[in-house]
This record gives sequence, C-alpha cells and structure tokens, in this order.
Amino acid sequence: MSATTPFGEFDLIGRIRARAAMRSDVVLGIGDDAAILRLPANRELVVAMDTLNAGVHFPADAHAADIGWKALAVNLSDLAAMGAEPAWCTLSLSLPDANSGWIDAFLDGFDALAHLHGVALVGGDTTRGPLSISVTAHGFVQPGRAMRRSGASAGDDVWVTGTLGDAAAALALRGIGTHAQLPRLGRVDASGDAAARAVLETRLARPAPRIDISRELAVFATACIDISDGLLADLGHVSLASAVEMSIDADALPASRSLVAWFDAGARRDLQLSGGDDYELAFTAPPSARDAVCAIADANGTELARIGRVTQGSGVRVVDSRGEAIAVTGHGYQHFA
Ligand code: ADP
Ligand code: MG
Repeated sequence: MSATTPFGEFDLIGRIRARAAMRSDVVLGIGDDAAILRLPANRELVVAMDTLNAGVHFPADAHAADIGWKALAVNLSDLAAMGAEPAWCTLSLSLPDANSGWIDAFLDGFDALAHLHGVALVGGDTTRGPLSISVTAHGFVQPGRAMRRSGASAGDDVWVTGTLGDAAAALALRGIGTHAQLPRLGRVDASGDAAARAVLETRLARPAPRIDISRELAVFATACIDISDGLLADLGHVSLASAVEMSIDADALPASRSLVAWFDAGARRDLQLSGGDDYELAFTAPPSARDAVCAIADANGTELARIGRVTQGSGVRVVDSRGEAIAVTGHGYQHFA
C-alpha cells in the first residue's frame, strides 16, 4: 500500500503484529519489507496457499472468529495432506473497511488454531476491497517423504480419517448449497437433534486439520489428499495423478452420530460422497500396513475407516458391500463449473 492510507491499514497491522506468535526460527517477523526465516537442516519446505471469499467459502454472516480459524485451517489441512509439520504462515486480508472489532475477533480464531499447532504468522498484506482472506502455510518434511497424490498403486487400500459429510450436512440444514433439498429426519424442536445439529455446525465452522496423525500416516501411505471438495471429487484427483482406478464401498463410509440423527441412509450417502469442507484425509496404503494404520488410529483416538481398494484402470467407482456398482449423481464442488 502507499504511505498515505485512508483506512487505518497500519493500525490493523499493528494489532495483528502485537498478537502474532513467535518461533525461534523466525529471524525477522512482521514489520519489515519481508520476513526472514531460518530453515532447518535436511528438510524440504512445503508451501500451500488457499483463499476464502465471502459468499463463496463462508456465508456473509459468518462469525469473524470462525472465518479466522477456517482461513488457517484449510491451509494447515493442505500441509497435513502432504505429511508436513507446519511452521510459518502469511496472511493477506482484503477488507471492506478497517473494523478493529472484526479484526480482533478474526484473530481470536486465527491465533487459537495457530497456537494449537505452533505456527507463527510472519507477514502478509492488508488492502481494502471485498472481504477475502488468503493464507500461505509453510511446513517441513524429511526429504522425499511428502505424501503426493501420485503414489497409489493397484492393490492398495483406500482409507479415510474421521467422518464424512458433516460440514455439507450443516449447510443443507441451513438450506444452502447443492444438498439443500435432501430430506431430513431430525426436527429442531427435539433437544437431541439440536445438539447433533450444533456438532455439524462446528464441523463446518471450525474444521480440525489432521496435522498430528498425518505425519504418522506418511510412513505408510502411498498417496494422500485432504477432502475439501467432496470425497469423490478429491479421490478423482488421486486416481488421475496415480493413473489408477479407485473402487469405493458406499456401505463402508464413516458417518457421525449427528449425521445419522438428521439424515437417512440415502441422504447420508450423498453427503458423504459429494459433500465438501470436511478437511479429513483420504489416503492409500498397502494391505501390509493395515495393522500399523489401525495402531495409529488407536493411539491418536482418531477414527480411521477402510473404504475401498485401488485397482488398475481410471476414475472412481462406488459399489455396495456386494460389489454392485452404484450410480452417483452428486459431484464435488468446482469453481467455474
Ligand atoms: P510493504 O508496503 O513493504 O509491502 P506493508 O505495509 O504491506 O509493507 O506491510 C508492513 C509489514 O506488515 C510487513 O512485514 C508485512 O508482512 C506485514 N503485514 C501487512 N499486512 C499483514 C497481515 N494482514 N498479516 C500479517 N502481516 C501483515
Ligand atoms: Mg516494502
């Protein structure tokens, strides 16, 4: 920005700087023309960038603290998908006006997640414009150890962390998005249903990137991706990059209790296969790693479900537990589609 600024840019940067966490490998953080960072010996640097736009990635009335959390979470999820240990991030903010209350709340969410994973905010940019947030996240892997989309081979199992479809279910219950018309079982007047709905809302607003478990999985996984656009869409990327077919057992897809409380089996399947925003990890690993993968799940208290197999061919097919193909109508989210 120019030296004369009409909207308190430097006040905002000052607020951000005052709260930014430090790390000993940050030689110079926010405040100069660029940050200076000390790279650890014998590590590769892994870099990811994702943008959240108002009205596209979050509803215009979303809480600032949730937006702050999610802006970092989606980037840490990309690092998790690579098996990287997060270290630093930068933050580009486009704001309609300089609202210190908004920025403080935004930082409450952003900093809470940064603190959880020991990530230092080391720089960024602040401009006026439509509400939009871009974050880059930087992390480390041992040379050659990052999980890519391209490593799956025929014979591997397909696994997924956590449960699927919860974030999309929250949107559907609000009557937003591609799943808005799905029939629902729950009623908001029943307190159990309301509690279940709150769980779904939290999955949407505050996704938890699978940072911790991913580095352990990287030892065994042949390919990995984080599920941002929907299971089928994201497995499609792995299938393409690895030049294999993936066969997914619809009956093996993990569902949360909250999802079960609100949607019947048919609606759940739609949400699990094509609902975005869960930020779980889908990965492939050889059958010889099954015991090790289950041990990692137990040690971390994380649900891990084996949902299919990698075969020769191309694309992603969905089958039921008898192996019969299921026609799938839903698709993952695609910009410009
Ligand atoms: P320059 O004009 O040299 O690009 P800026 O005025 O844009 O510098 O930024 C000043 C300092 O504040 C830089 O260190 C920059 O990285 C940091 N900064 C600006 N905006 C943000 C932000 N939204 N989050 C974190 N750091 C920021
Ligand atoms: Mg400069």
